[in-house]
Amino acid sequence: MSPIEAKKRIEELTAELKQHNYNYYVLAMPTISDYDFDKKLEQLAELEKQFPELADPDSPTQKVGGEVTKEFVTVRHRWPMLSLGNTYSEQELLDFDQRIKKAIGDNFEYVCELKFDGLSMSLTYEEGKLVRAVTRGDGVQGDDVTTNIRTIHTIPKRLKEGDYPELFEIRGEVFMHRKAFERLNDERMQNGEVPYANPRNFASGTVKMQDSAEVAKRPLDCFLYGFYTDKTYFKTHWESLQALERWGFNINHSSRLCANINEVLEFIELWDKERFNLSYDIDGIVIKVNNYSQQQELGFTAKSPRWAIAYKYKAERVETELLSVTYQVGRTGAVTPVANLRPVLLAGTTVKRATLHNADEIEIRLQLHEGDSVFVEKGGEIIPKIISVNLDKRHANANPIHYIKKCPACDTPLERKEGEAAWYCPNDEGCPPQIVGKMQHFISRKAMNIDGLGDETIELLYKRDFIHHISDIYKLYERADELKQIERFGEKSITNMLDGVEKSKQMPFEKVLFGLGIRYVGETVAKKLALHFKNIDNLAKASYEELITAEEIGDRIARSIIEYFSGEIHAQEIEKLKASGLQFVVEEKEVTLASDKFAGKTFIISGTFEKFSRDELKDIIEANGGKILSSISAKLNYLVAGDNMGPSKLEKATKLNIPIISDDELMGMLG
Ligand code: AMP
Ligand code: ZN
Repeated sequence: MSPIEAKKRIEELTAELKQHNYNYYVLAMPTISDYDFDKKLEQLAELEKQFPELADPDSPTQKVGGEVTKEFVTVRHRWPMLSLGNTYSEQELLDFDQRIKKAIGDNFEYVCELKFDGLSMSLTYEEGKLVRAVTRGDGVQGDDVTTNIRTIHTIPKRLKEGDYPELFEIRGEVFMHRKAFERLNDERMQNGEVPYANPRNFASGTVKMQDSAEVAKRPLDCFLYGFYTDKTYFKTHWESLQALERWGFNINHSSRLCANINEVLEFIELWDKERFNLSYDIDGIVIKVNNYSQQQELGFTAKSPRWAIAYKYKAERVETELLSVTYQVGRTGAVTPVANLRPVLLAGTTVKRATLHNADEIEIRLQLHEGDSVFVEKGGEIIPKIISVNLDKRHANANPIHYIKKCPACDTPLERKEGEAAWYCPNDEGCPPQIVGKMQHFISRKAMNIDGLGDETIELLYKRDFIHHISDIYKLYERADELKQIERFGEKSITNMLDGVEKSKQMPFEKVLFGLGIRYVGETVAKKLALHFKNIDNLAKASYEELITAEEIGDRIARSIIEYFSGEIHAQEIEKLKASGLQFVVEEKEVTLASDKFAGKTFIISGTFEKFSRDELKDIIEANGGKILSSISAKLNYLVAGDNMGPSKLEKATKLNIPIISDDELMGMLG
């Protein structure tokens, strides 16, 4: 391929993959299969390797992700990040308008913007490059979360040529789309983790995470709405919004320039209805005086600008009666309380249930009593939430509600791990919802994806005593005749099911590992573990130290894995599954060596790199005969270090006098 053709193809692929990333991460609506996506990504990586000078540093092949940074550096804001005055009433808006008229006369405009419900972020650009991202903090200083913010696809890391100043700051709101929130929150629940209450909490929890590789997996988005420079650059806020868009920033297109307060009120009314059709949550409208010199004239109070105000929509709230609290047992044994309510109409739907999250919500935050009258709200979340109790209506002798002490399904006393909010039923081998849930997880699409076998069939077969463990699924064919005795279970469905089961024996190790349902071992973690440990025996005997040296495996996951493999029943299960012919070993790719320049040499790759992903570097090393080690020891020959390398690794390598080289130096060694 000629460089010109390559350039065209690289640009096409880049644009296409970025769109797919956006569809997948932001909209949570992928329009391409994972397989096709990976193929395209491979093509792009191949072209970038052949024509390195054409590679875009922001290419989809350069997945962001890094090491634990432990804690955030506090940074002082160049311009303080104030809050906004806010109101729920039209009258107060009219008063606001009057105050402004008194100060600057009649000749001014407003800009109305949606008030995004996320967390505000200050981004600093120097010479067109994103150099810093800082949270609001206390308004005067915030946390430097740059590595995490760099994972957001819609925030440009490097601007194209443009008429922007050498140094400027922009502010915006980091948030998570509702769809992505629901998908990820479901995943959390499936992995036995405590779900987040709403997209805002999920977004802010994510931005404060220590591991940016983990952040990269959680799709955040950002709308930008404020431009700050030393010298005046534009006359109006509206102009600067247009400029931001030109420079490649993601601004929201719902903003409107309004000639007077009546137009503002129209805008507010419009979005009061339309907001439910957005893919993200807003909690109101922000109204700003457009002209910067007029803004200056109006000035600030101690807390907020006088030239802006937020109009907040009332969350829809109703009062209803608490009928009972029931408990659901998930496949990991987590016991989640649910409030059953007298049905009421709320924001267009009939509400019968509300989440109660955990024991503390019932006993400490709400202090629920039997028959309480409760206020229920529906924000962005699909499941409504109990906001508070109407104490005036509490019955005189009502008993407080206590979170249960025993499993509602099997009567085993519940347990709570230190530092966790959820209570668990420890009887994982004897508790029906856990048994059924584990098998349902195993056959699910993302795990073994067994055709001809669904959740209901699993439940039916469990009730009829055909299956208790995953391994029993592979014994079903021996009982084909008995299966035919089950009413409404046709011969065709049985054949389909048994075929599906047979085929699933070919599923790769990573899928089997995910299917086992080890707590905190989600899809990606299973993949990483499979790659790192190669087979189940290595994984089962891995020590805590060995586990945490694997990419992305932290304390919590390591402990959970050790606990799982220390269970006798789990070991027996795995033996049975092995005997049935499931894959417990990673299929090794045939590697043809490019050279033996690294033969006998050992490497560790750490940190993030501009030009390569870590997997690519690993491939290059192995293709030239080198070996990747899992932990730093005196045996190690080279530490290949990128940005944001963990401080402990660096210290250890320095102590042991191990040469630390860059990716360029590594490539240099290959000549
Ligand atoms: P409050 O937190 O109620 O004081 O409201 C101020 C916050 O609203 C700001 O710190 C921003 O995080 C947020 N916000 C959301 N959308 C906008 C917007 N379009 N313009 C300004 N601030 C916004
Ligand atoms: Zn139980």
